[in-house]
Amino acid sequence: MLRNDPDVVVIGAGCAGIAAARALVAAGKSCVMLEAGDRVGGRAHTSGLLGAPFDHGATWLHQADENPLTRFIGEHIDHDTVRGRHLHLGDRFATRAEMAEYGHACDAFETAIVEAPQIPDRAVSEVVPKGGRWDETIGHWLGSQINAAELSLISLKDYVAVDLEGPNLLPSEGLGTLVARLAEGLPLRLNHAVTHLRWDGPGVTVEGDWGTLRAGAAVVTVSTGVLAAGGLRFTPGLPAETMDAIHGLPLGLLTKYGFRTTGEDRLGMAPFHSARRLLGPEVRTAMSWIFRPFDRDQIFGFVGGARAWDLAKEGEAATEAAARADFTAMFGARGAQVLGPAVITDWGTSPLFRGSYTHARPGHHESRARLSLPLAGGRLRFAGEACHSRFAGTVAGAWLSGEDAVRDLLAKRIAVTDAS
Ligand SMILES: Cc1cc2nc3c(=O)[nH]c(=O)nc-3n(C[C@H](O)[C@H](O)[C@H](O)COP(=O)(O)OP(=O)(O)OC[C@H]3O[C@@H](n4cnc5c(N)ncnc54)[C@H](O)[C@@H]3O)c2cc1C
Repeated sequence: MLRNDPDVVVIGAGCAGIAAARALVAAGKSCVMLEAGDRVGGRAHTSGLLGAPFDHGATWLHQADENPLTRFIGEHIDHDTVRGRHLHLGDRFATRAEMAEYGHACDAFETAIVEAPQIPDRAVSEVVPKGGRWDETIGHWLGSQINAAELSLISLKDYVAVDLEGPNLLPSEGLGTLVARLAEGLPLRLNHAVTHLRWDGPGVTVEGDWGTLRAGAAVVTVSTGVLAAGGLRFTPGLPAETMDAIHGLPLGLLTKYGFRTTGEDRLGMAPFHSARRLLGPEVRTAMSWIFRPFDRDQIFGFVGGARAWDLAKEGEAATEAAARADFTAMFGARGAQVLGPAVITDWGTSPLFRGSYTHARPGHHESRARLSLPLAGGRLRFAGEACHSRFAGTVAGAWLSGEDAVRDLLAKRIAVTDAS
């Protein structure tokens, strides 16, 4: 390598890229992190557009007891201890007894999933209860709203392998702010999209509109959505097994929206409480809502799965209108008056992401491990939320996969060379 070439180039400055760059710096290796966008954090991004921190993407630190980011958290709330859940039926909220019934139905759902034989692998939808009063709502919740894709699209084995129980922590500064803080001081170049990566030489060469860079090895952290769409060209082309793994891990879509609230009407909802509608013949998909986090004048929510993709294609105005209509269906004209200006996210249409987070297609549960295999004797390594099994789809998985990638590189001593 030339004297100024870094040991490792990290492509993408989301959680995985930041974790990888931090691990490289800690190990005394030189690295450069190239980011196509104009900010760090990727799918973890906090803005002040609603007058207070608002997370456009990642929001909670799930499984906080084991989450690698928990050690960095400042002021926060354990959401599970303050969250009240409301389910809306027709023109009223579910009673206590109905919520208990719903809880039992959820337990039965989870048990059916966990106890179903995993060989052969199949879609989660094939093993869950059907026909009960609450089943459609629960399936929609666990599929579109939690996993960003319908249960019919998700591998049972992958679903069960992902372990995301509580505690679920909400950082007051916003999770995106926390992640961006962890990138401070790293060798980062924003607005440096990589369009071409060559891995046929002794090291790797990356190219973009900004020029060319050589390095001993590359850690590629762009989403599988970007890779599947050909957003980054490889020479030689990636092996068939790697491409198969990429296509086995599509990104679902969870569109987050936030509204500034106006007036004094609290609609009877306490801070951090959540609400959504029961599905039925008249309501085919539901959105979910969380009220006044940290007692801020904010209400945020999500729409996921096929409906989110449809709305994303129609544009932000369509998503906003659908969200207002969903809210008004629960709270009537009073509710309509509470919702002020909106922020609608566009993870599905952005060419830098092409979705929110991955699920494995039925039969593709091995894809996460396959995508994580080092290529070219270790000179090329993929990382990101798609590459982690237990914490797949989350900032924790992305972070740990970035660290794993560097551990692999260092073990193979790829990055350690001063040969010119
Ligand atoms: C709405 C929503 C809600 C979520 N909620 C949660 C949650 O509550 N908790 C949780 O843990 N996770 C949540 N997630 C998921 C979490 O945000 C992601 O799993 C995680 O941030 C992914 O990190 P990553 O580093 O793998 O990828 P990314 O964050 O996508 O980082 C990849 C980076 O690569 C850049 N890039 C793309 N193409 C190029 C290129 N050609 N050259 C250079 N750079 C490029 C991108 O701009 C991006 O910055 C949520 C995501 C969304 C969208």
